[in-house]
Amino acid sequence: MLSAILKKEDCAKCRFCCSFRRQSLWETPIFTAENITVIKNDKDKNSECLIQNDGTDFARYDLSGSYISDDSDEEVKCPYLGDKGCVLDDEQKPWDCKIWPLRVMKMKDGSLVIALTPTCPEINKLDLETVKTFVKDNLSPDLFEYAKGHSCLIKDYREGFPVIDKAE
Ligand code: SF4
Ligand code: SF4
Repeated sequence: MLSAILKKEDCAKCRFCCSFRRQSLWETPIFTAENITVIKNDKDKNSECLIQNDGTDFARYDLSGSYISDDSDEEVKCPYLGDKGCVLDDEQKPWDCKIWPLRVMKMKDGSLVIALTPTCPEINKLDLETVKTFVKDNLSPDLFEYAKGHSCLIKDYREGFPVIDKAE
């Protein structure tokens, strides 16, 4: 989604956003009902790691029991990260992953914003105004519309996430 400003080769060398430290577990991606259906119908993909809470139609995986040390910097890989990158195809891949390092977040007053994750090393090398202009010109309406139709994907706003755009 951000390939015009985020080079694929830089991401291939990084893969930071496909592994999680304990303090980043809130960032593990949400799989929508649509994602879950196509993954379950693909015999080559593991759907057993996806846990759906009662009363919801979305799921995520739980890595909390996978850490082997007390080191807070220990990272555990997403179960869908293969040797050559993500093994999921476009319909299976969570929206959270497609829009990363952007997030649609809810402010305390209930308004929605698009915010930038401060931990992506490559996007944060760019001037923030360049990112804002690109997102506003190319992505904002679609991101807000999709998030409003899939409220499970909206995160609570976190301090330190630069705001890129606000919903009208
Ligand atoms: S953290 Fe940023 S640079 Fe690294 S793989 Fe993810 S999107 Fe690419
Ligand atoms: S689902 Fe794919 S893109 Fe998303 S975190 Fe896992 S490996 Fe990375």
